[in-house]
Amino acid sequence: MKTMSKIPHRLYLTEEQMPKQWYNLRADMKEQPDPMINPGTMQPVQAEDLYPVFCEKLVQQEMDAVTRYIDIPEEVLEMYKIYRPSPLVRAYNLEKALNTPARIYYKFEGNNTSGSHKLNSAIAQAYYAKEQGLDGLTTETGAGQWGTALSEACAYFGIPLTVYMVKVSVEQKPYRKAIMETFGSSVIASPSDTTNVGRAMLNDDPSTGGSLGCAISEAVEKATTTPNHRYVLGSVLNQVVLHQSIIGLETKIAMDLLGEYPDIVIGCAGGGSNLAGLIAPYMRDKLTGKFETRIVAVEPASCPSFTRGKYAYDFCDVGRSTPMAKMYTLGSDFKPSANHAGGLRYHGMSPILSKLYHDGFMEAVSVEQTKVFEAATLFAKVETILPAPESAHAIRVAVDEALKCKETGKAKTIIFGLTGTGYFDMSAYTSYINGAMTDYIPTDEDLQRSFSTLPKVPEIM
Ligand SMILES: *Cc1c(COP(=O)(O)O)cnc(C)c1O
Repeated sequence: MKTMSKIPHRLYLTEEQMPKQWYNLRADMKEQPDPMINPGTMQPVQAEDLYPVFCEKLVQQEMDAVTRYIDIPEEVLEMYKIYRPSPLVRAYNLEKALNTPARIYYKFEGNNTSGSHKLNSAIAQAYYAKEQGLDGLTTETGAGQWGTALSEACAYFGIPLTVYMVKVSVEQKPYRKAIMETFGSSVIASPSDTTNVGRAMLNDDPSTGGSLGCAISEAVEKATTTPNHRYVLGSVLNQVVLHQSIIGLETKIAMDLLGEYPDIVIGCAGGGSNLAGLIAPYMRDKLTGKFETRIVAVEPASCPSFTRGKYAYDFCDVGRSTPMAKMYTLGSDFKPSANHAGGLRYHGMSPILSKLYHDGFMEAVSVEQTKVFEAATLFAKVETILPAPESAHAIRVAVDEALKCKETGKAKTIIFGLTGTGYFDMSAYTSYINGAMTDYIPTDEDLQRSFSTLPKVPEIM
């Protein structure tokens, strides 16, 4: 019998080996992402514009493009240690199932109650709110992962949290609401009668199932009209990208210990935060000319922001209440077709990743959801982790790359981000297993319709 390579199945760093600082990618970007624009003045957003909405420390992190490393507060590190370092797993069983010479690794972020990487930023945001002496936070959640993560973090730091949850999700995923309430959060189905935006929506259409855009608008209104409250967001923003760098920094330390450097790093992309976090140190090597590695973003064919979107200024929400960001976007009122079950349904993309993609530092591919669930079920069977549909986008492309290695006989080293578990997505799995799942790819006309809503922004640079 062939002896097993000495690389372990799961590599856990010790607490001492854990990174003590986050890494700010912007510090190594020669060309910066374009600034956010205040739609009222059409001028770049200033910190003062954001203080009424976001925590002060988080606004500072949002605007900071120069500090390369930022200390992770001791209290945040203490909570990280409840579920971090997260394991870097060598996917021996997947490699065997594919009969590939490729070496496949994945960084598993689903080992916490919220079941995803979102907790990494939720902890930081709840901590800074506590430090500022706030009386409460508001946020929105669609499928519920972000709301759960933030509820977990707010319970730990003792900050009251109100979550506006899209009404159809409340109906489809009652247990997500129950988890958030267990952590002490107040969960309100959106649209609701607790805000002007919500009341207007209900007035227009009392039977509406709501949307993420409306939930954002309600959460922002609630935060800005309640004394000493602020709003928090779980993806897209530069601050979230910063906090998620913990994923990549841990990965890099573990890979260095194994003497491995990836040829390809793959991650799914919704708003871009897990991908930006995973690739951070490898992108640093690329930006500073140290090493070349392929970096691949994977998105759903039904919501193809990178691969078919426009690089343009757009609002971050359907309610057009946020500042405008220059990003790859499908238009703020783009909605993936109703049969889309695989998550990653945000119309825009992190401005940092958008700039890096625009400048040729990374690639993007889109995949159809039936292919995604095919990879998800294979992965579940051989690696025995039930992946979130979002994560399974990255699995799909890792599998495809590994199969290419089989054809060419080249043993590449592949890393992908396994961002979470899929226990609340069983209706999507059921629809795949029953053969009822279909793919819908938007036509050029569909996209043209939502592009026509892009705001007109004068050249200010
Ligand atoms: C939210 C989520 C994503 C997508 O968000 P990003 O900001 O693009 O990382 C991916 N996977 C899981 C499990 C999620 O919950």
